[in-house]
Amino acid sequence: MKLTYYPYTLELKQRFTISFHSRLTTPTVMVEIEQDGLTGYGEASLPPYLYENQQSVISFLNKVDLKQFERTENLYAILQYIDEIEEGNNAAKAAVDIALHDLAGKMINVPLYRYLNINIKDDLYSSYTLGISEVKSLKEKIVEAADFKILKVKLGTEDDKKIIKMLRLLTNKPFYVDVNQGWQDKYLALDMINFLKEQNVILVEQPLPMLNLEDTAWLTERSPLPIIADEAVQNLNDLEKIKNIYSGVNIKLMKAGGINKAYRMILKAKQLNLKVMIGCMTESSCAITAASHLSPLADWIDLDGAELISNDLFSGMKIYDGKIIIPEGPGLGVKKLRN
Ligand code: MG
Repeated sequence: MKLTYYPYTLELKQRFTISFHSRLTTPTVMVEIEQDGLTGYGEASLPPYLYENQQSVISFLNKVDLKQFERTENLYAILQYIDEIEEGNNAAKAAVDIALHDLAGKMINVPLYRYLNINIKDDLYSSYTLGISEVKSLKEKIVEAADFKILKVKLGTEDDKKIIKMLRLLTNKPFYVDVNQGWQDKYLALDMINFLKEQNVILVEQPLPMLNLEDTAWLTERSPLPIIADEAVQNLNDLEKIKNIYSGVNIKLMKAGGINKAYRMILKAKQLNLKVMIGCMTESSCAITAASHLSPLADWIDLDGAELISNDLFSGMKIYDGKIIIPEGPGLGVKKLRN
């Protein structure tokens, strides 16, 4: 097997760049693995709040030697080899893992979800993220999100109640709320969550700082809404630690280190009685489509990452009327749009 890679920069659609994203771009490294005339595609997305960057990914990929492997039938042996090259490097490992899964599905001509023995469902709805911004652009954003049945709202400011009240003048759709560790006081947090409960909010993600486990446990015990860990959980080893502290976990391929590990995290979370959200970074349709194959296993889905970018290199998972359509082609089922 032959591995190649190239750095690529995702650009946010113009309309998202003005108000809620201070960053205009997200760096990635794209991976391709070839065998017998077939190509598997993978991607490492590298938002600046994670520890990896294009350089660290490339330096990891330079250590990967797939020449010793001739077939993807040994997928799990290859993944273990990748994992043992070096600690960490989860996004880099995710890129290789995604490409290998794509190739493995192509080799036996089945879509990834079938390769993984996952039954597809007809009610896979993704949320769509609205940022914090001024009232007038909130209105525009609600219009943009017309196709989606669930909206994700980022809170964590002084004006949280005001923002929700303004949004409620514009839409009745259910909200997922993501606080990104933005609340500091557990009593104020509980007060906010009681308010949100009355506002058709389904769940609250990462309300308190990730290191504040004691207050989070206190909050979860009293909260009328599920409290979901995002920043507090990076990978499989973190799940056990949060089982009595959060109600659920946001699992992302880039945090987990790829499809195999994310799948194992989902199973482990269920074992621990934790609810599962499958989420994403800003990613192209390559990694987003990979995550969509796992989405039938999740309680909640937040896979809007490719909707926000203007220079997607792939087409794959589609969203119609808020509903996720997983492609039927072999492997991920993505098509590369240009070279
Ligand atoms: Mg989050």
